[in-house]
Amino acid sequence: MRLRNKPRAAGEIAANPQYMTTTPMDFKGQWQRKFAQKQPLSIEVGSGKGRFIVEMAKAYPERNFIGIEIQPSVAIMILEKQLVEQLPNLYLIQADGGDLTDFFAAGEVAQVYLNFSDPWPKTRHAKRRLTHRLFLAMYQTILQPAGQLQFKTDNRGLFEFSLISFNQFGMQFNELSLDLHADDAPDNIETEYEQRFSQMGHPIYLIQAQFKA
Ligand code: SAM
Repeated sequence: MRLRNKPRAAGEIAANPQYMTTTPMDFKGQWQRKFAQKQPLSIEVGSGKGRFIVEMAKAYPERNFIGIEIQPSVAIMILEKQLVEQLPNLYLIQADGGDLTDFFAAGEVAQVYLNFSDPWPKTRHAKRRLTHRLFLAMYQTILQPAGQLQFKTDNRGLFEFSLISFNQFGMQFNELSLDLHADDAPDNIETEYEQRFSQMGHPIYLIQAQFKA
């Protein structure tokens, strides 16, 4: 997702530290202080416009959520949603999710969500895919033992790459779908990309897996 640079983004983020930070390393190991209640913490890397993380926070008030988005112009679209909703269990990070082990202490996170991550189709860019083993090693570090990873995509190539990557990493598969919207999945919360691609008739692939304890 590429949006035109919005000059107001940096100012808007700086004006709302109660909801969003650009310096997440300052809160490593202390994220629970950002929330009204100490509860299991789930994060989404690459939140885009934020529909998923906002709706998850609304649906599961007994959990805390952090959405991470690298592009300031996109991140402020989540911030604007949170300024309306003011959810006590949602916090936002505008930074590169490639640095997760600088942001979160070992075992600080209960679940990681990846939704419609950029596919980086060229082989020479494989290391940039958020399901590459280099990223899996980071997720494993910040996740609690047997921590969960959920991944959704409409991209068949990235889905197949991710299956192999998770398998080679020794992860345990808990759920797979080759067409999530044809399955009985009443709890599924759709992202903006998911809504767009499913309306175009693309099947949505899902993997739920966990790291071995
Ligand atoms: N998850 C959203 C959805 O499903 O509608 C957005 C999908 S969009 C294809 C991928 C998003 O991930 C973009 O907004 C992009 O800026 C963000 N992104 C890509 N790499 C990232 C990274 N290393 N850290 C944080 N966000 C990233």
